Parts: sequence; C-alpha cells; structure tokens
Amino acid sequence: MNIFFHHVGQDGADRDFPKTIQTKVQLKKLIADKAIKDPELIKKLEQAFPSGEFNCWGVPQGAKSVITNLKNGDYVFLVESSRINGMVSALSPVKLFEKYEMRALSEYLWQDSKFPYIFFFDTVNIELMWIQFLEDMGYKENFSPRGNFYKIDNKRFDKFGGAIEYISNILNSYSRYLGEDTITYILNEDIEEYALLNTQYEEGKLVALAKDAPILKDLFPSKRTVKISSREKAFRILVKKNYDYKCAICDVSLKSPTGIPAIHASHIYPKNQNGNDDLRNGICLCFLHHWAFDSGWLSIDDDYRILIRDYIPKTKEYENIYRFKEKKINLPKDSRFWPHPLFLSASRVFYGF
Ligand SMILES: [Zn+2]
Repeated sequence: MNIFFHHVGQDGADRDFPKTIQTKVQLKKLIADKAIKDPELIKKLEQAFPSGEFNCWGVPQGAKSVITNLKNGDYVFLVESSRINGMVSALSPVKLFEKYEMRALSEYLWQDSKFPYIFFFDTVNIELMWIQFLEDMGYKENFSPRGNFYKIDNKRFDKFGGAIEYISNILNSYSRYLGEDTITYILNEDIEEYALLNTQYEEGKLVALAKDAPILKDLFPSKRTVKISSREKAFRILVKKNYDYKCAICDVSLKSPTGIPAIHASHIYPKNQNGNDDLRNGICLCFLHHWAFDSGWLSIDDDYRILIRDYIPKTKEYENIYRFKEKKINLPKDSRFWPHPLFLSASRVFYGF
C-alpha cells in the first residue's frame, strides 16, 4: 500500500472540492450525459460503488510519471493549501484508478480538461494541518509542493509503524465525523445499512482468514475507526449466520417483534483481551448463555462439550445453565467455522477452567 498527496492549492480547492470531493457524483448521470461511455469503465465503477455514487479527483497530465504508480487500495491526501494555516482536508482511499487519460470526464466534472488522470473513492473528511503533515512526513518547513502530485516514500512511515498505521492514526485523530455519536451509531448492531460496503469487504476477509492457521491475538487491535467497526459488524453477521441464528447451547431462536434474533455473536477468547475476530473464535449464544459464558459459569472443552463450574448454585434460577452440563454444543454446518481448539483452550485458561 502506498500513500500519495496532491497539493491542490486554495483556489482550486475552493472551486473544485464542492463539485466532487464534498459532493457525490452519480454514475447514472455521467452515463446519461455521455461523460463516461466506456462500458468496461462503467462496469468497474458499478462493481466498486454498488450505491451508484462516488467521489473522484483528477490530476494534470504532468503528474503522469507519478500517478501511474497509483493502485486501487492506495491513499491520496488532498492538500488544500500549504500556507502556515493551510489544511489537508480530504483523504481518498482509492477504490478505482485506470491508468489512462479521461479528458472528457475532466471537462464535464470540472469544466476543464486539464485533470485527466482521475481516481475514484469515498471521501474521508479530515482536519489535518499542513504543518502537522510536514512534520509527520519529516519534510523541511520551507518545502513547497507547488501544485504537484507526490508519492510518499514508505520509509517516512516507519516511525508510525508503517503506512497502514499512519492512516489508522489519521482516521482516529483527525477524521471530522467520527464523534462519539457516530461511534455509538456504528456499533448499534441493529442498524444494518451502515457501512454495508465495508462490511461486505470485511466479511470476505474473515471468510478467507478461516483457511489459515489461527492466530490468538489480533494483529490489528480494535480501534474506533469505521474500518474496525465494519469488521466487528462482519464478525457479528457471519457468526450468527454460521450458527443459523440459534444459541449453540440451548437452541433458542427467539426474535424481536421486528424480527431481530435474540442472540449474540460472542468471542470465545474475549475481545477485551484483544481476542481475534477470526470466525473460529466466534460462537452464537442467547443472552443468558452469553452472560453465563462471559461471567465464567460455563465453558467448552475441545470435544465441544459444555463444562459447568462445580460450585454453581443448584437452584431453579440456575437450572437453565447447569442442565446443559456435558451436552455437545450445536456446531455450524460449515466445519471451517467450528470453534478452534486454540481459542477454546485459551478461553478455558482465561476463565480458570
Ligand atoms: Zn442459550
């Protein structure tokens, strides 16, 4: 993954950011107005942006030798101004870039054909000071970017732990719309539509992960970013689906009046110990058994049989827990997603079984 930046300048930013950075462009309209004609490009845009809308930015022909290194998955910072109080106000996670000139589209979008190398993304609004960016990158204070398009040497991110860590840090610290309210909103698992694209992407990664040997600790510990929240969301959706929306212990599949199942996707080795979102560290439990698991009344052995703590009160109140002693849990149909002994044993150690 590489990181680039484009020094746009205040005039250009004031004139053009409202058109395609702060506003989404509708693919349908571009097609209707014949700004895009290439069926291949249309297909790629439809795939990258199922919602049919996106942000985009174009750079001049003179940037060709640098921008032809740009790949999908890279990031581009858009620098509004390099004055003392200048801002880097947008981050572009590139979803689609084709290495050829699109003059007609440039003309249509910005009333000027001079920005033919166009990349497509969903804007992340940030509030990063230019002088902070200079310091982060280790550039000299008098560095003048002069409207150019730059690729940043990956060595400059070493002190942040790498380019991905730097981006993650930016999203955590300078992202404009990630207030506490937004986070609550994202984490509310009943709101399914949020970040659907990211979630689908993360779902794909989690399924692929189940092929590899498991790793107990999460290499990219959960931070409060949209990306991580999407992964948590993907984990929840898939674990529930894998267990057919039923509690692995008692088979309960109660639903709310609006059809939301009364179950949780739980982590076997706990999330608050930096447990992994590996699907084999997931188990679907009803509210009662989720609580019983997380509070340490019950656990699961490597043969998937339920362990109950000896000194559990043998009263009616606890019956719905201790009566499952030695029962085998209900496993997902797809054996790829069965709980892995690595997580089961680590969980037993953690809870003292
Ligand atoms: Zn249950």
